[in-house]
Amino acid sequence: MNLDLFFRPSVLSLTPYSSARDDFQGEASVFLDANENPYNSPYNRYPDPHHRKLRKRISELKQIPPESIFLGNGSDEAIDLLIRAACEPGVHSILAIDPTYGMYAVAAAVNNVKYTRVLLNEDFTLNREKLLRAVTPKTRLLFLCSPNNPTANSFDSGDIDYVIRNFPGLVVLDEAYIDFSRHPGFLGRLQEYENLVILQTFSKAWGLAGARLGMAFAHPDIISILYKIKYPYNINVLTQELVLNVLSQPSVKDQWVEMILKERAILEQALAALPCIKNVYPSDANFLLVRVDEPEKIYNWLCTWSVIVRNRSNVSLCSGCLRITVGTPGENRILLEALSSYIH
Ligand SMILES: *Cc1c(COP(=O)(O)O)cnc(C)c1O
Repeated sequence: MNLDLFFRPSVLSLTPYSSARDDFQGEASVFLDANENPYNSPYNRYPDPHHRKLRKRISELKQIPPESIFLGNGSDEAIDLLIRAACEPGVHSILAIDPTYGMYAVAAAVNNVKYTRVLLNEDFTLNREKLLRAVTPKTRLLFLCSPNNPTANSFDSGDIDYVIRNFPGLVVLDEAYIDFSRHPGFLGRLQEYENLVILQTFSKAWGLAGARLGMAFAHPDIISILYKIKYPYNINVLTQELVLNVLSQPSVKDQWVEMILKERAILEQALAALPCIKNVYPSDANFLLVRVDEPEKIYNWLCTWSVIVRNRSNVSLCSGCLRITVGTPGENRILLEALSSYIH
């Protein structure tokens, strides 16, 4: 793989910070190397910068070698690091579908990297030729998100494959909602591509948004670069321990997903029957995008019921749309009660 095509020269030639825990990697009992307080175990110790235990466990679960796994402080860290590793500020540019997750554009702007949006088709499907026509010699990164936020649909896997094979830079495929999808996603096909980075997260299906843990999967050469430029101690001791515990019972996540999918189907039907709802879009995620006549008024009405949804009516192709996360049966009942009593 020619990394020069994907990454900034300054990043490729960088010598990373070497922490005390990098210099010594065996099992020891007396740690006098990092100026830590010897009391208050285990929180007195710096966390493992390489996340070895956690990556090994995730490796078993996902059937992906640990060298192909990066762990970040949420997917948001991986998004920012990929932009910083690939794009020279003011020179290179990023391509992304529109509408999609807002963080890609924010992270691009923070890094002073031009961000070009290519509209999806009206039915939210991917227009692969239009997307690839927008590539320029300066384009380094492409963000795809499937299932996509906020449109809730997954893209055709043949289209995704075609785009990855024909895009000259790195393709970042965000699979934050893959656990809720009927499609298997691309993790099982990672080895087929040198330029693919898949993002997944513990924030959605795993119920750990508060712990902040995101995963990136890619060729080991790409993962090494992310490890080289991240903050040394990006995942704290509490999160590493907590997630190791959660991963000892992964079936709990599957039960949550099952309940949420069942509830999504009920909510979809109930919403479609309400007079104030014009359309409920098919969902492959844990939320529903609905079109209404008066998004602001309905949003504010729901607020008076202490029910908060996301108003997406100012987003491309989503005029009049609200995004509703699938909650517990009780929460969904309150939502439906509030919407049923809405009179415009
Ligand atoms: C929620 C979400 C994430 C999760 O981000 P974290 O930083 O891991 O919490 C990532 N991508 C998309 C598209 C999302 O909707």
